[in-house]
Amino acid sequence: MEYVAAGSPGEVVAALADGDTAVLAGGQSLVLDVTTGDARPRRVVDINRVTEFDLLAQNDGMLRVAPLVRHRTFESEAVPGALGDMLRTIVGYIGHPPIRARGTMIGSLAYAHPAAEWPVVATILGAELDLVGAAGRRTVAAEQFFTAPYRTVRRPEELLAEVRLPVLPPGTGAGFAEHRPPLAKYAEVAAMAAVTVTDGVISAAAVGLVNAGPCPIRARAAEKALLGATFCDAAITAAADAAAQVDAHVTGQRRQAVKVLTRRALTRAREKV
Ligand SMILES: Cc1cc2nc3c(=O)[nH]c(=O)nc-3n(C[C@H](O)[C@H](O)[C@H](O)COP(=O)(O)OP(=O)(O)OC[C@H]3O[C@@H](n4cnc5c(N)ncnc54)[C@H](O)[C@@H]3O)c2cc1C
Repeated sequence: MEYVAAGSPGEVVAALADGDTAVLAGGQSLVLDVTTGDARPRRVVDINRVTEFDLLAQNDGMLRVAPLVRHRTFESEAVPGALGDMLRTIVGYIGHPPIRARGTMIGSLAYAHPAAEWPVVATILGAELDLVGAAGRRTVAAEQFFTAPYRTVRRPEELLAEVRLPVLPPGTGAGFAEHRPPLAKYAEVAAMAAVTVTDGVISAAAVGLVNAGPCPIRARAAEKALLGATFCDAAITAAADAAAQVDAHVTGQRRQAVKVLTRRALTRAREKV
């Protein structure tokens, strides 16, 4: 396998043009996959020396995240306000400290593991993803990006160059709850919520499920149950019931887990509003 250390965004895009080159970001998934033989790229292009990719910025109501922003960044106060609080609430559930020190948010989106947290965050917040290849740049909504476990609409010759997450308004509280068997790498199932209360009623709600289907799930029926209601136990119970019906693949104990975890995530969100 050939190894290329790129020094600029242009060099990364040029290296990807052959369609058989893998981006090496944090390496926390790629290196394992190459070791086990699950990934067999002809070449890897290491982006860790591309200083332009270490960018986290906020403008026009969007948080812009570039390809070298590590999970760990979101543990800090780097992102202000309710969005920062949501990302801080969730990041601690990703792997363990060494994984979070190397792994990147964009690497996680590109990898599209069905039990990963960031793809669900991006989906329920309506994030935009920029893909760049030799043919130019295109923007895809997160909800259209993930197509199956480990599959996205990214073409092999494209770099996932930026994700933009909408800033959340004041009055938003976020909560997360997961079930993870001891020593498991990823959550067995998890739920997350970001709920905005304006003048005593819920004016915006985003509810998502992790590892409850082949792709990130946005539980729209749960969101509908919350909108316009006061953030009370009855609304939380109605939303949790709706979340449990969200996907035909979710049955039996798993459906019960979705219900319990959604209720827990919403209760935690309410404490933060
Ligand atoms: C023990 C362990 C526990 C973990 N637990 C969790 C967990 O609980 N939750 C969770 O979400 N994740 C977990 N992970 C995965 C971790 O979050 C990874 O960091 C993440 O999946 C990939 O990020 P990375 O930067 O390391 O990407 P890499 O490993 O470098 O790359 C992953 C894949 O994405 C591609 N890629 C990376 N960046 C780009 C880009 N900019 N454009 C195009 N393609 C790109 C690579 O080519 C490769 O195919 C765990 C990993 C381990 C080893």
